[in-house]
Amino acid sequence: MALDLQRSLKSLLLPALLLLAVYLLQQPLSEQLLPLDKTLARLPYALFITGMAFALLFRHSREFFNLLILLLTVLVLDIAVWSAAPNPQSALIHALLCLLAPVNLVVNDLWRERGILNRYGLQRTAVIASQVLLAFWIVHNPPGELAESLAFTPLPIVVASPVPALAQLAILICSIVLLVYVFTHPTLLQGTLFITFVALVLALHQVEAPVMAQLYLLSGGLLILLALLFNIRQLAYYDELTGLPSRRSLRQTLLSQGSRYSLAMVDVDHFKKLNDTYGHDVGDQVLKMLATHLRRIKGGKAFRYGGEEFTLVFPGKLADEAQAPLEQLRETIASTPFKVRHKSRPAKRPENPQPKSDPPELSISVSIGVADTTLADDPQSIMKRADQALYQGKKKGRNRVVVAG
Ligand code: GH3
Ligand code: MG
Ligand code: MG
Repeated sequence: MALDLQRSLKSLLLPALLLLAVYLLQQPLSEQLLPLDKTLARLPYALFITGMAFALLFRHSREFFNLLILLLTVLVLDIAVWSAAPNPQSALIHALLCLLAPVNLVVNDLWRERGILNRYGLQRTAVIASQVLLAFWIVHNPPGELAESLAFTPLPIVVASPVPALAQLAILICSIVLLVYVFTHPTLLQGTLFITFVALVLALHQVEAPVMAQLYLLSGGLLILLALLFNIRQLAYYDELTGLPSRRSLRQTLLSQGSRYSLAMVDVDHFKKLNDTYGHDVGDQVLKMLATHLRRIKGGKAFRYGGEEFTLVFPGKLADEAQAPLEQLRETIASTPFKVRHKSRPAKRPENPQPKSDPPELSISVSIGVADTTLADDPQSIMKRADQALYQGKKKGRNRVVVAG
């Protein structure tokens, strides 16, 4: 698994900034929000339930169960720790929560995405529900030394906090596991899940200041909701295979263009043959490689139109101005051999290794047709003219740029 330090830090940066803002502003925030504490107390429920509904709709189980854990946390704190009527078991309940909530959050983050409304979702719900029942039973039949056991730690690293020592140790281990996961899977979601974990821990630590604890839980929930919305946006506007903006993005980009732009249609030559010879996976690798070249085009923006077809838009440039970068792109693609990567490598070296055959090198080429706003006003007609020019390029022998005229 590759370690991408820059991407990992980037994935942590935005969610960490939000949490840091709440941490730094805690004094003025809690003073301002204290008179609103009744309203504030309801906000986490509204936010977590809304987020869970979104997660359910888009079948994102990690976000769903994370929000469920935050919801149960705030519910337990409200009923058993922050209620007006003093509860003799509140310290024990808080101690159990400090142990169970962070551990569950981490287990949930490492659990594979497998949907919610199916047997995997049911399993996860059952795991959480059985812990709630167990905790309920413990609170009603507290074993004598439980409180001392929770306060016991074999390591002298206890922080002065209402969070019991054993839970502190569990939190430390969980943080390390989660951090390793963020650095090996550097996505915005993983970064967000780590920061949400920190927010939950801060809330449990600040249990004696309910306004602040609620603010931390709210920040954690908000971060998950934002990551979820960002993810949905990615799915709608970006192509999963190449990471390029998709056809829907292209439509929006074209709507916002002025009266002067050009549009190029790019189609891979003999792609069906490549797929038939080397397999669909190699075809996919080629598309990814092409996307990296297309992304670097000077003065233009690349989109995946669909299949093995791409579109380039050059805002403010007519076709003859776009021709030079397009020729350069065509030339770069044609002159860069594509090495077929062997998919499966044996885990152990064989005793008598066979002489290794070099991976085949493929020459890939693309044909490009380009048209501009001097030929038509509406994007559909310009695209049609670019398509016709592309077709001419194919007829003339492929691997060429044709300007519609
Ligand atoms: P031409 O030079 O005339 O463009 O020939 P071609 O073989 O590229 O044209 P054709 O349109 O017949 O074939 C396109 C092929 O692209 C067919 C389809 O299997 C393949 N294809 C479409 N989308 C994908 C994809 O996402 N991954 C892979 N690997 N192949 C794809
Ligand atoms: Mg095609
Ligand atoms: Mg093709």
